[in-house]
Amino acid sequence: MTQLFRHLPAVDQCLDALAADRSHLAKALRPAPRPLVKDLVNAFLDLVREEIRAGAFAKDAQLALPALYPRLLAYVVQGARPRFRRVVNATGVVVHTNLGRSLLAPEAVAAVAEAAAHYSNLEFDLTTGERGSRYAHVEELLCRLTGAEAALVVNNNAAAVLLVLDTLCKGREVIVSRGQLVEIGGSFRIPEVMSKSGCVLREVGATNRTHLRDYEAAIGSDTAALMKVHTSNFRQVGFVKEVPLCELKTLAGTFGLPVIEDLGSGSLLRLEADGLPGEPTAAEAVAEGADVVTFSGDKVLGGPQAGIIVGRRDFIERIKKNPLNRALRIDKLTLAALAATLRLYLDPGLAKNRVPTLAMMTRSLVSLRAQASRLAGLLRKNLGDRLDVSVRRGTSRVGGGAFPEADLPTALVTLSPCAGTDLSVDGLRQALLATDPPVVARVEEGGLCLDPRTLDPSEHALVLAALRQALGQALGAK
Ligand SMILES: *Cc1c(COP(=O)(O)O)cnc(C)c1O
Repeated sequence: MTQLFRHLPAVDQCLDALAADRSHLAKALRPAPRPLVKDLVNAFLDLVREEIRAGAFAKDAQLALPALYPRLLAYVVQGARPRFRRVVNATGVVVHTNLGRSLLAPEAVAAVAEAAAHYSNLEFDLTTGERGSRYAHVEELLCRLTGAEAALVVNNNAAAVLLVLDTLCKGREVIVSRGQLVEIGGSFRIPEVMSKSGCVLREVGATNRTHLRDYEAAIGSDTAALMKVHTSNFRQVGFVKEVPLCELKTLAGTFGLPVIEDLGSGSLLRLEADGLPGEPTAAEAVAEGADVVTFSGDKVLGGPQAGIIVGRRDFIERIKKNPLNRALRIDKLTLAALAATLRLYLDPGLAKNRVPTLAMMTRSLVSLRAQASRLAGLLRKNLGDRLDVSVRRGTSRVGGGAFPEADLPTALVTLSPCAGTDLSVDGLRQALLATDPPVVARVEEGGLCLDPRTLDPSEHALVLAALRQALGQALGAK
């Protein structure tokens, strides 16, 4: 065995072989940092040493570089890939929080690149040459789009809610209906945000029904605000009652109290004409009298991760001056993306065309069917001997906790390995996660489903390549 160890190639030999390799796969290694590649070569050789100890090699020749090289290359290429990278979303979930929520409009992508590569007037007033406000770049747009007097943006909507409560209600009571004490994925829960911001949550009503008189009875000298939380990710049906915002506003007004609304995904457009349920828009919340409204930038709005706060000028000014705002501040790249996205909304038709989240949510079944049949044709032609490919009706989801009960009709391309392929549907799903780029798909009714709603036609070739890779590996591994 000690003999065998001596036949292992040296690290430098491995590195030279990788550098001299002109193959497509090896070229992917060119941009990888040298020390990283060296560490991977060492790790690979350690792995082989383990195998020698385990008795996996009988002859010296098996340890010569040419014999080990294909495995070495695959190992190093796999390990040298950036950890955080692109994936192909074939799930049909448009605002997929785990896959990065919204894709940016091309205009927003360009704005990010410009702001990233060059200096900008981020906090510089070009009319006076003096210090300006970073919020000015989006405040006017947000006021115009929502009808609010003033606006501010922070890191995300969770931060927005925290900041609003900390500024306006700290140390005092905030009245919320028991039907609205929501938990959003990732540990955002209204009762906990409330206590983090130093407010006392005053719950009123029952889980299913809250009346105006419940709020009225709870108002006291310690009350700082009435708060309404959009139950974005669930629906209550049956014997239920919520107090409309306008009634809350009237009640709050008689006591001189503000009404705060956490709108959650906060659409800027009505989308019923496109087959989605009627959700209140940010402009409607403002018009109905919410004094401060918060919502996310990267859910239905389709922009970058951000928390948008709009409302009465005096409140917004106080929120801007809160030292906590400095800690939750939005960065310039996000601001560039958000400003460019909001500009598109000045023309709703343009927004629906250019903002990918809106375009994907509102795609027609006709276009989805056509794309599904094109993808199915491509896969059948190339992989028909190994995969059964069919198209059937299915449903996609908006995701991100928005429109929870909306089933968007779609056409799914469903795949299952042919009999004799010895690969399970779930094995195929798993193998697709190891391809480059990985393809994320869901298993439904015994088939692997590809939903064209979230696939750009330019990604069909990537799906084909990934399936080839996945099937090749699975069959090769046998
Ligand atoms: C999503 C959501 C949040 C959190 O927003 P992020 O932008 O993810 O921080 C808060 N409140 C409601 C009602 C939501 O739907």
